[in-house]
Amino acid sequence: MTQPEFDNSFVRDLQGFYVDWKGAQVPDPKVLRLNRPLADELGLDADHLMTPDGAQELVGMRTPDGGSSVAMAYAGHQFGGFSPQLGDGRALLIGELIDRNGNRRDLHLKGSGKTPFSRGGDGKAVLGPVLREYLLGEAMHALGIPTTRALAASTTGETVLRNNGPEQGAVLARVAASHLRVGTFQFFAARGDHGRVKQLADYAIARHYPDVEDAENRYLELFRQVQARQAALIASWVHVGFVHGVMNTDNMTISGETIDYGPCAFLDAYSPDAVFSSIDRQGRYAFGNQPNLAQWNLARLAETLVLLINPDDQDAAIAQLMQVLEEFPAQYQQHWLAGMRRKLGLLTERDEDLDLANDLHSLMQEAGSDYTRTFRALSRIADGDGAALDGVLAAEGTRDWVARYQHRLENDGESDTRAAEMDAVNPIYIPRNHKVEEALAAASDGDMEVFDRMLEILSAPFAEQQGAEAYALPAPDGFGPYTTYC
Ligand code: AMP
Ligand code: MG
Ligand code: MG
Repeated sequence: MTQPEFDNSFVRDLQGFYVDWKGAQVPDPKVLRLNRPLADELGLDADHLMTPDGAQELVGMRTPDGGSSVAMAYAGHQFGGFSPQLGDGRALLIGELIDRNGNRRDLHLKGSGKTPFSRGGDGKAVLGPVLREYLLGEAMHALGIPTTRALAASTTGETVLRNNGPEQGAVLARVAASHLRVGTFQFFAARGDHGRVKQLADYAIARHYPDVEDAENRYLELFRQVQARQAALIASWVHVGFVHGVMNTDNMTISGETIDYGPCAFLDAYSPDAVFSSIDRQGRYAFGNQPNLAQWNLARLAETLVLLINPDDQDAAIAQLMQVLEEFPAQYQQHWLAGMRRKLGLLTERDEDLDLANDLHSLMQEAGSDYTRTFRALSRIADGDGAALDGVLAAEGTRDWVARYQHRLENDGESDTRAAEMDAVNPIYIPRNHKVEEALAAASDGDMEVFDRMLEILSAPFAEQQGAEAYALPAPDGFGPYTTYC
């Protein structure tokens, strides 16, 4: 058996940014699901991970050779209010692996027990949310969106009390480009420890943005690059109808990956106001608000960098950061429109494309039509079926819009591959809320088949799959409004 080669740069380079900590001992650790392709990609021995020793490693009660078990410090704005100390309250960084492509990846556990950052929490995670993060993260990955990924879901043999009663304790092993967050910068900035903020910024540059290392104003460039990745990321969420649900600054990565699948959900009926999280009562993180909130979070990151950019003239540093920050809406809009053109199958760019895309959204909103199904139907229009939106987009203006769209496609020029290219960006299968609930309910009764089937379907979201029709449909009316809890 080959041992994985850990190379723990965070622990080595950033002392004072974490606490050495071990996972809780649990009665009966069992690996419920292992992501074998990801294990292989990471150079991990999947067969070892399925042994009792492997299970102990995957719940955090035993540190693998070469691992460094630590709880990371971070702060964060949660729903706009600042908490100077959050941190890994139920999570541990186990170490870093260099994957088969040469990329450095964090191995992290969630639900591994109390840490010095737990505040009032029990340090645990439970089966439903762990499997939910597994499924949603893998679905996002298959959709081509940068994201943390699930390596394994394990049960602990414990019973954990939650609001709805007793639940099965579980631990998620997840993999990320890193777990540096906006909130990591805020932790040290809030303490006035600018030496550490600088150390962190240098580390983030080396790890994620080596191209800016030699820039004249490297910290400003770091900010610009983080912002660029976030603009692209949020647009990619919006293109598939993803609502993150809890875009607190501690849940925004420096790497540009999606992190923390708590109360997230996918749209069925299109609405910019869509909110699923039970605790988001003001709609702060509503579907259509996500770009604004990303910019708000980036402003919080900018605040931590002022003294690094110009310690002698803070006003000048703020002006520089503001200038970058103010570009965010246009950057986001550019990504959004480029993605919309791909979804509409447009190869050329015309001014009218913005109205064409916006008007489609207005019709979807008016008719309450399904976001995913509406876009998927468009390739049939491109293939000559002018009635493809019948039964999908039941709005008064649909016919007029289709006529405009057909006209636009005509002057876009001939393309033999247009429909296929559209089908490669407009998914058939997304994690439908009612289907997710079905899979989790079965899993909590010990039946993993529904979960496995759904994971299989979501792993190839763009290709039609036999017997998967039910996964392409919105929730039945009886399902009612969907609420998520984190
Ligand atoms: P989240 O809402 O998942 O982004 O978590 C926000 C903060 O709450 C983080 O510091 C978490 O570590 C902490 N936290 C969440 N759940 C628990 C728990 N069950 N026990 C201890 N800390 C928790
Ligand atoms: Mg979080
Ligand atoms: Mg969470």
